[in-house]
Amino acid sequence: MTKFNETHDPGRRSWVASANRSGTDFPIQNLPFGVFRPRDGPARGGVAIGDCIVDLSAGLAAGLFSGMAAEAAQAASGPALNPIMALGNPHASALRARLSELLREDGAERKRVEAMASKLLVATADVTLEMPCEVAAYTDFFTSIFHATRGGRVRNPQEPLTPNFKHIPIGYSGRATSIRPSGVPFKRPLGQFLGERGVLRFGPEPRMDFELEVGALIARGNPLGTPIPLAAARDYIFGYCLFNDWSARAIQAWESVPAGPFLGKTFGSTMSPWLITGEALAPFHCPNFVRAPDDPKPLPYLFDKENEEEGGIDLKLEAYLVTPRMRAANAMPARISATNLTTLYWTFGQMLTHHASNGCNLLPGDLLGSGTTSGPTDESRACLAELSAYDAVDISLPNGETRRFLGDGDEVILRARAERAGAVTIGFGECRGRIDPAEPWPMA
Ligand code: MN
Repeated sequence: MTKFNETHDPGRRSWVASANRSGTDFPIQNLPFGVFRPRDGPARGGVAIGDCIVDLSAGLAAGLFSGMAAEAAQAASGPALNPIMALGNPHASALRARLSELLREDGAERKRVEAMASKLLVATADVTLEMPCEVAAYTDFFTSIFHATRGGRVRNPQEPLTPNFKHIPIGYSGRATSIRPSGVPFKRPLGQFLGERGVLRFGPEPRMDFELEVGALIARGNPLGTPIPLAAARDYIFGYCLFNDWSARAIQAWESVPAGPFLGKTFGSTMSPWLITGEALAPFHCPNFVRAPDDPKPLPYLFDKENEEEGGIDLKLEAYLVTPRMRAANAMPARISATNLTTLYWTFGQMLTHHASNGCNLLPGDLLGSGTTSGPTDESRACLAELSAYDAVDISLPNGETRRFLGDGDEVILRARAERAGAVTIGFGECRGRIDPAEPWPMA
């Protein structure tokens, strides 16, 4: 069940003024973990608060933590968060509770802590945000029934969903080595595809796309051969990030039958730098996707009351586009998609339990992608393939430009906010990435 504690208190404010500003992604109720690199030092773990980052190494050096919170801070103070993930969520929770106490406006230790703010806090604007962890393995799911139905209609208008869709969270093994943090651009990939009039070609991908997804990062893993029951699944998730699972649609369309996506996906994915803990998202859990009355009930290993009642996460998701012309004109990013994580047919708990149901071992820092988070409405189509009706309709931008797929220099920005009555709104920060022109094939 969702556990609330004083770190969720909506009345709690921080002495870090920017954390109380309306519209901030990082109020004191959020406290996400990430890895930052200051100009003059090594990459290390921190926790976001308003426009600043708590430097966990500095907090340790100042003796601010003890017991489990100190163990957690130690494990989170290196260049990757995998060690704190491996400790398990009770450790991260102890550190969150201590940080909330240290940062609160009316805390008993405020004077002492505020006096060391110049050492303890780093301005986010002054650092580079890095990959929060080493992603050992990445699995991409396909759990939006709306995304699956729209795409399926192109292949089979009568029967758009495959017979398994309502019985298993469909997924495939993605590529972890090419995941990069927000802000790192990718080159348009080269590949083999069917071009105009069905002529086979090798060259720059003509139908470059993004996918608006949410990623779940594994906390402690499971030993090989040991499944994870649904009731325990959430304890195995450390936190969540935004995830842009870039897609080369022409390469993907040609290669994917019968063994699934390969080079159309493995050239790169972008993740946001802050991991929003499951604990921070506790106030935003909500019922699972409401299935149609004649939809099949999942098999028992994928079904329990708690998952039905609060396995979903009420998270607003948006994608924005900035073209080179918009950038040159200093124009606002254009919102091209707005959806919600509640549109997923399967919860992250069900994805994780299904993933490990054959005994597959998950590791701390493994990434589960939700799949494209498209909803039922036109506005909630969460990739360009859907937005352009599979290359049939122009997408109009505010400056008069049009797109069906991404042009060179186009940048995609993903954002997420969790809002609910009675809770302080928290956000995910940005997941930003640009597609640069393809390089020519290397000469021997
Ligand atoms: Mn995907």
